[in-house]
Amino acid sequence: MKISRQKGTKDIVFEDALIWEYLEKKIRKIAYSYNVNEIRTPVFEATELYARSVGDETDIVNKEMYTFKDKGDRSITLRPELTAGVVRAYIENGFESLPSPLKFWYVGNMYRYEKMQKGRYREFAQFGVEIFGSSSYHADVETICLSHSLFKEIGLWDKLQLNINSIGCKECRAKYIEKLKEYVKPNLENMCQTCNVRYEKNPLRMLDCKEERCKEILQNAPMITDNLCDECKKDFENLKKALDDFGIDYVVDKKIVRGLDYYNKTVYEYTSKDLGLAVGGGGRYDGLVEMLGGKSTPAVGFGIGMDRLVLLLKEYNLVEDIINKNYVDVYFLILDENGYSYASDVITKIRELGYKVELDIQDKSFKSKLRYADKIKSKYVCIIGENEIKCGKCTLKNMNEGTQEDINFSIDEILKRME
Ligand code: AMP
Repeated sequence: MKISRQKGTKDIVFEDALIWEYLEKKIRKIAYSYNVNEIRTPVFEATELYARSVGDETDIVNKEMYTFKDKGDRSITLRPELTAGVVRAYIENGFESLPSPLKFWYVGNMYRYEKMQKGRYREFAQFGVEIFGSSSYHADVETICLSHSLFKEIGLWDKLQLNINSIGCKECRAKYIEKLKEYVKPNLENMCQTCNVRYEKNPLRMLDCKEERCKEILQNAPMITDNLCDECKKDFENLKKALDDFGIDYVVDKKIVRGLDYYNKTVYEYTSKDLGLAVGGGGRYDGLVEMLGGKSTPAVGFGIGMDRLVLLLKEYNLVEDIINKNYVDVYFLILDENGYSYASDVITKIRELGYKVELDIQDKSFKSKLRYADKIKSKYVCIIGENEIKCGKCTLKNMNEGTQEDINFSIDEILKRME
């Protein structure tokens, strides 16, 4: 019986693996330049963590979690996002007592039982950053700058749009929600079932509804951005000015409220200009640490979909260089069994010097070995047969030029030609 890959998962290999490696290297480089610490948290956590943080009324918790009982009868969930796990780690490890602000980055797989669409998987990865301990808008700006640096570095910045909004603090949001409910109330019975539940449990989320009839009713609804308190308004103005100072273009989109319960004040999203694809988003979540049992700690962060970045890099041909540069420096083609001990020292040393070296490990004809060297894009082939061993030589073939010469078999002689 053939066993297939699970729906919504993929095998990343060859060219795609090179693109992922490229992306991860760039992320590491940018995170380093912003002095952010890497954090790796477990792939599974207690279900309670997500129910409490992400929120009972979200699609993620309601419909999409991979939840199961382990053999000890604990309810376990494969992480559907990573912020909650990082906050759990922050509290559990006593990071609250470390000098703040404390900054973390991660790249990790997450799991959501979702309907398949382009760029939507059940196992996917996100690159994220979380900053704890600063309530200043400068921290929000820092997260946007960091993601902007990455997008610039990989050539995607001009393909993306940054949309920002402020959803206010607890106080101004509470007042606004009353206003929103008042506006919606006369039309509530014409809205979808989900919005009726949201009306009671999380009214802000009604603004996210995709149903036409709800969208229509909400078209002229009061917007949170127009109902901020003085402090939130000032914060948002400061944030916009700082983005201007850094030369980062943005659009204010009053409709962004973000899908998760724990955001406040700044929220933002990156979308692809041409493909209408959400690439990532983030914002401030000052209440979450306390909500999960820690001390009241301001925090801000973002998550960006790695799979979508890979998709965009391919779509815009920004990775041809990476793929084309995937060659082998030298292939050692051995025609005599004694050739292996003859060449072993040289091969080891060339590898230690950082060259990409392939050793012939198959019993095949000379012709098919050469064909293989061509397929793996080897720049040179070092041929070792009985005669070469007898004379202390090798035949070095330059695959690009189609030339070859007999040379003394030594590292120096080989490297001299390869450089
Ligand atoms: P979210 O955590 O839902 O705010 O998503 C943040 C980003 O993660 C999105 O903008 C996507 O780039 C990516 N993402 C979310 N869900 C998926 C998925 N099912 N498959 C692939 N990428 C996803």
